[in-house]
Amino acid sequence: MLRTHTCGELRNKHVGKKVALAGWIDKIRNFGKLWFIDLRDKYGKTQIILREGEIDKKLLKDLTIESCIGVRGKVLNRKDVNKDLETGKIEVSGNELDIYGKSLPMPFELNDEKVSEDLRLKYRYLDLRSEKLSKNLYLRHKIVQFMRDFLDKEGFMEVTTPILTKSTPEGARDFIVPSRIHPGKFYALPQSPQQYKQLLMIGGIDKYFQIAPCFRDEDARADRSPGEFYQLDLEMSFVEQKDILDLMEKMLIKLVKEILPEKKITNVPFPRLTYKEVMKKYGTDKPDFRKNKKDKDELAFCWIIDFPLFEEKKENGHFAPKHHMFTMPKQNHWELLNKKDAHKAEAYQHDLVLNGFEVGGGSVRIHIADIQKRIFELIGFDEKDSEYFNHMLEAFKRGVPPHGGIAPGIDRLIMVLLGEPSLREVIAFPKNKKAQDVLMDAPSWVKDEQLEEVNLKLDLGKKKNG
Ligand code: ASP
Repeated sequence: MLRTHTCGELRNKHVGKKVALAGWIDKIRNFGKLWFIDLRDKYGKTQIILREGEIDKKLLKDLTIESCIGVRGKVLNRKDVNKDLETGKIEVSGNELDIYGKSLPMPFELNDEKVSEDLRLKYRYLDLRSEKLSKNLYLRHKIVQFMRDFLDKEGFMEVTTPILTKSTPEGARDFIVPSRIHPGKFYALPQSPQQYKQLLMIGGIDKYFQIAPCFRDEDARADRSPGEFYQLDLEMSFVEQKDILDLMEKMLIKLVKEILPEKKITNVPFPRLTYKEVMKKYGTDKPDFRKNKKDKDELAFCWIIDFPLFEEKKENGHFAPKHHMFTMPKQNHWELLNKKDAHKAEAYQHDLVLNGFEVGGGSVRIHIADIQKRIFELIGFDEKDSEYFNHMLEAFKRGVPPHGGIAPGIDRLIMVLLGEPSLREVIAFPKNKKAQDVLMDAPSWVKDEQLEEVNLKLDLGKKKNG
């Protein structure tokens, strides 16, 4: 290792020791022949003193803010103790200096909240050095790690499902990927692993989860990233709706207690309200039950259940599913599906709401082929549309266990848990509002040869804009 300690580690007990530290120059102050540096890494900051004479003057003059350096020297007691720093009682008197990576002037100041979004995203690797992002990404890791451990202990198994899959008419717009080996055919990126997780249940996997990337070609919103996001996707066999809600609730209460102990949950158990009730009382299916909206440490979870199976508005005379087409209608409403008033049917759908944001949704699924076929008819699928789902209808003929699940959105859940105003504060490399990765410059043009390989020709007309 190029260091013996991190920049957040040294205390009085280390005084007199020879140490090596490495990190970035947070601040430089020069008093004649003395140079004071605040050296920073992921773990903290340490004051370094360098003296001209001991260190080559040319090297010292070359130091710039945010350059990456290594220093060897001795730990000393600090006279002017800095109470704001955990290492504030010591300093390191350096006698060797390496400049690993000199930095050009910074395009913006770290931790300055007024910097424009696109500038921050273009230099995201610099932005990631800020206290907030470094802390948020660490918490995100802890939260995801907690979910994995918790679900493992509950008997779940993580299974990865394909990224190149099939385009099916499922709600959002698909991202499609041309196939080179099968000219003219396309894969689609999964909007969610919904069908795969149901097939896993048919495969006897019993309890599945995945930190799953999902891709939807939708416009950005304050609480929705354009293009891609992550879900804690899970599915269980032989469960009723209550089992799914109880499990999630247990996980979230424990998660908050262990990872975010400064936060308080307003209501335990989480209130469970029906869609009808909540719409009547609050006029929204995402009620905010915080008692004090100014308290950034308050977390008010609730469940909304008994949603209508279909949206009120019919699309072209057909019904549109409220959740998705695999959601099980409530058993005492099955007979409504044969009549004109199918729109009166309610479903075993559940949404998890936190501080007024929908942070997850799921349902008990249809496991009976005839009901699934009927739903396809009601949403207006003709033979051809239904063919897209032949694999599901086939699988439904071969011993399907009753099953259900949920998929909390990881990015959105963490944004609300941490009280951040934007998803971009909890994602390492987010897209901007126009769905661009301004750091990599994606999307971008590809070479003509690449297009030829997949048998594509562009015909942009007036659409080409640089
Ligand atoms: N696949 C669903 C979604 O992405 C979630 C679920 O029903 O489990 O909304």
